[in-house]
Amino acid sequence: MLNDSHLQRASVTRSWPRTLGYGLLAVASLAGVVSLWLNDHAVWACLLAVFGLCAAFLSATSGTARCLNCGWKFGGAFHMGSLNQCPECLTWHRIDRGNLVLVPPDFIADTPDFTLDVEILKSPAEWRLPWSGLCCVCHKPATSVTELEMRTLVSQHVTYNRVSIVRFKFGHCTPHNRGAEISGSQIKFRSHAYWTDFYSTNRRDD
Ligand SMILES: [Zn+2]
Ligand SMILES: [Zn+2]
Repeated sequence: MLNDSHLQRASVTRSWPRTLGYGLLAVASLAGVVSLWLNDHAVWACLLAVFGLCAAFLSATSGTARCLNCGWKFGGAFHMGSLNQCPECLTWHRIDRGNLVLVPPDFIADTPDFTLDVEILKSPAEWRLPWSGLCCVCHKPATSVTELEMRTLVSQHVTYNRVSIVRFKFGHCTPHNRGAEISGSQIKFRSHAYWTDFYSTNRRDD
């Protein structure tokens, strides 16, 4: 019978300072929501309610765990479906049956959640895309390309900013169309394997 006993697992311990901090924020938000609602500020009450719900969620899921690759202790929101990255060695973990496990090499997230900050990569003009001619989600032959652009601030002036724009073409097969995303100073992928290859190809050597 197949089992996953070969996988390492680590337990997540509750981070009480964060749990209490976010909990207090949630309670304060609730008090604010009631007060705003009673004073006929329904829109502000709804906005604060959303903020309060986020705080309650973070309070309930705040934890710390040891990285299964390098042993670094790191904190975050740990919950079913969360992807948690060690800030020290960048290894990705996820929650499986209440424990922390390594994300399998062939794991594909539902949305582009595997992120890379531009600061730890070479300049975008030097990036080379792995998996040429293949879908950046599933590694099968690509049938279309999606063009994304990376804008980087080159210099700031009083009346204008100089921005460099570099465009990239990511291959996709027929069922896939959103395997990569660029947002702000981050590039994100759905495929863990693509993330690994992109990082090893384009990481800054220093
Ligand atoms: Zn680590
Ligand atoms: Zn595909």
